Amino acid sequence: MSPLANPLADLLARRIAANGPITVADYMAEALGHPVHGYYRSRDPLGAAGDFTTAPEISQMFGELIGLWAAVIWQQMGSPDPVRLVELGPGRGTLMADFLRAARMVPGFKQAIRLHLVETSQPLRDRQKQALEAFGVPVAWHDDVASVPDGPMILVANEFFDALPIRQLQRLPDGWHERLVDLDEDRAGFRFVVSPGRSTGAALLDPGVRDNAPAGAIAEICPAGFAIAAAIGARLKQQGGAALLIDYGTARSAPGDSFQALKAHKFHDPLADPGAADLTAHVDFQALARAATEAGAMAHGPVGQGAFLTALGIVARAETLRQSGARDVDTALRRLIDDQEMGSLFKLLALTGPTLAGSLPGPLPGFEG
Ligand code: SAH
Repeated sequence: MSPLANPLADLLARRIAANGPITVADYMAEALGHPVHGYYRSRDPLGAAGDFTTAPEISQMFGELIGLWAAVIWQQMGSPDPVRLVELGPGRGTLMADFLRAARMVPGFKQAIRLHLVETSQPLRDRQKQALEAFGVPVAWHDDVASVPDGPMILVANEFFDALPIRQLQRLPDGWHERLVDLDEDRAGFRFVVSPGRSTGAALLDPGVRDNAPAGAIAEICPAGFAIAAAIGARLKQQGGAALLIDYGTARSAPGDSFQALKAHKFHDPLADPGAADLTAHVDFQALARAATEAGAMAHGPVGQGAFLTALGIVARAETLRQSGARDVDTALRRLIDDQEMGSLFKLLALTGPTLAGSLPGPLPGFEG
């Protein structure tokens, strides 16, 4: 076999040579999460020197407004003390640092917070510790949301679900087949193939997509994301609270191939150089909402990030920051809320326990539109 681009590619190639093609989800899980060579295990991918930039890294306004949103929700929950504040995939801890700074303005909220960070990357756990230790809030790290202790919860996840492995299915005349990753003919790289038999994944497709997609269409499912959304929904039903899921993706389930790689802020072939580029897929918010509501939670939205942040007062916050001499406030504001930037591709889905939703005077803050 000719040498492949890197050690992880070589490992995957041997596995495929021995056992046959693997699912897109297996490929993505190894490329992102392999204990030694996985993309997230070995580096800090964020910022100008990394591969991509996220909303909290663009401006402090993002985390601050989410902190204020959460404070209102906490009061609507009856100000429970303690409250579990959970973040999935906290990155550098920037969103949470801005959140906690804003949370201090609401009496009693910061004192009630027990912080639980779900993070698999050790380099990023170290960054989070540095960013958050000055706040004096008790912090625990988890590999998985299931190990967060019981109690009412507020959960935040920004650009977490887009990093979870997806499966791809393709509709052929006789039904849905699995799209697989195989070695290419000269065994020097990878290529997509389609499973000869029909895929069991069809059961997880949105019924409208499953029945109405045209022949040849590709559709995606994210079993790991559906399972986490269902676990969050079940917990909110039993123990109360709210979750705010923020990501780029579609409000409605639809066919399409959104599997993509980003390296040094540029699009890249997702099958080239596994482990060295960030792999993501669009989040299907309708499917996440369905998983959570089937587990007993209420879903709100999704709404566009621009509409949400505007409803929460980002324009006034930007003006205050500008007057205090902060730099580049207008550029950051545009990137976060303009429709041509992150304003409508990025969306927020809120999930609440049924009791919280039943006690509200109207829609959740930011979800009025
Ligand atoms: N929320 C941050 C970082 C987004 S990057 C921000 O907005 O800047 C994705 C984050 O999810 C990283 O912290 C990554 O290490 C983490 N992550 C990815 N897959 C994960 C998984 N399966 N379990 C836990 N954390 C994961």
